[in-house]
Amino acid sequence: MHALIEKALKRNHLNSHITQNIDGLHTSEECLPDQIIEIHGTTRKAACLNCNEEYDVKDFYEEYSKADNFPLCPKCQNGYVKVATISFGQQLDSAKLSLAKEKSSQCRYFIVMGSSLKVSPANHFPRIALNNNAKLIILNYDSTPFDSAAEFVINEKLENIYEQISK
Ligand SMILES: [Zn+2]
Repeated sequence: MHALIEKALKRNHLNSHITQNIDGLHTSEECLPDQIIEIHGTTRKAACLNCNEEYDVKDFYEEYSKADNFPLCPKCQNGYVKVATISFGQQLDSAKLSLAKEKSSQCRYFIVMGSSLKVSPANHFPRIALNNNAKLIILNYDSTPFDSAAEFVINEKLENIYEQISK
């Protein structure tokens, strides 16, 4: 599935990919940074809780294991560095949310893949797209609150859909 998204991004068939996944499996060095918007962060990087400066996650683990504590940010000296995922109670990255809103407002087609669309803020993005006259396509096993507004809906396991598309 990730290979398909990556291929579509590289060929400009997809403009951008907004994801709640944190595993980083859908990211590729070949994709532009603003093509993949990980609104819940990623386990592939580390970041400062104060200034959001990003660091290599391997360096973070090395520092952490040496001191047995979160390292202080070398840039601002005023925040701890941790894995760049959004922890419970932590604010989502406003720059990423803004970018996701911007992309949602500019697209012609908004494709939802594997989301119940019941959780905020991810369910705001298809609404923004619809309000800007985009067509909504939903690929999800269960029905969603947006199904009636969609151009078409496929209620099927994603892996089965991908299998069909890949042929
Ligand atoms: Zn910092």
